[in-house]
Amino acid sequence: MSVAAFDLSGRLALVTGSTRGIGRTLAEGLSAAGATVVVHGRSLEQATAEAAAITAATGTPALATAFDVTDTAQIDTALTALEAEHGALDVLVNNAGIQRRAPLTEFTDEDWDDLVATNLSSAFKCARRAAAGMIARGSGRIINIGSVQSQLARPSIAAYSATKGGIVMLTKGLTADLAPHGVQVNALAPGYFATELTAALVADEEFSAWVAGRTPAGRWGATADLVGPLVFLASDAAAFVNGQTLYVDGGMTAVI
Ligand code: NDP
Repeated sequence: MSVAAFDLSGRLALVTGSTRGIGRTLAEGLSAAGATVVVHGRSLEQATAEAAAITAATGTPALATAFDVTDTAQIDTALTALEAEHGALDVLVNNAGIQRRAPLTEFTDEDWDDLVATNLSSAFKCARRAAAGMIARGSGRIINIGSVQSQLARPSIAAYSATKGGIVMLTKGLTADLAPHGVQVNALAPGYFATELTAALVADEEFSAWVAGRTPAGRWGATADLVGPLVFLASDAAAFVNGQTLYVDGGMTAVI
């Protein structure tokens, strides 16, 4: 196998929630590996601005789209438009996600519903829509962004953990449906990374130090740490990797 197996030139890749944070870094990483990346968020203006920045950084033109990942009709409209102009997606990265924290007895139905809709149902809905074109072509990659919280629980985030546990089994279930059609589904599960989603944790010095101490690698993740593993999962190098969750967490889930 040569390094050419990692080349994504000519592939069309959509990263949901790539206007900032982990998704933004992953989108630029796929673009640097040669893919035509589609930057996504709820604001088209923001997605367009980030696509322009990625184009400038990598020299590979990036595209932009906007839709709410919880809304089946919006997903369908956006993917129909993308397919009409650029053909079916080669790679879908289900990354968009949210966090809500509250003591269990104060955790509201609305927060539970928002978490399930944004972190779990969204991945199912986007995968279902993208799969149609991938099945027709007989190839494609779907990569779901999970979390160490699918293995390790913490107080006040039971709903988030449940959605990320769901991602692990969704990844296996989609594999059962799609592997026979040449479509590979895997998950990438980050440890702790400093983004807007974790801003409150980063600001909490005690917790922040606990994360570094609890991580065998001795530090928080940098979003760039996720690029190599994602490019691998999206590339021909991962041709026989199906239904797996790859934890990129500095060893957090490996060691107690
Ligand atoms: P950020 O809050 O930095 O970014 C979230 C992204 O998701 C934004 O682009 C946001 O776009 C988008 N998004 C949120 N809700 C919706 C929606 N309803 N429709 C469309 N887009 C939406 O989060 P992170 O980068 O930290 O997290 C990205 C993923 O990584 C999530 O799935 C998260 O659970 C996971 N993760 C993060 C970890 C961390 O330590 N940060 C650890 C483990 C997993 P908009 O501008 O529209 O809000």
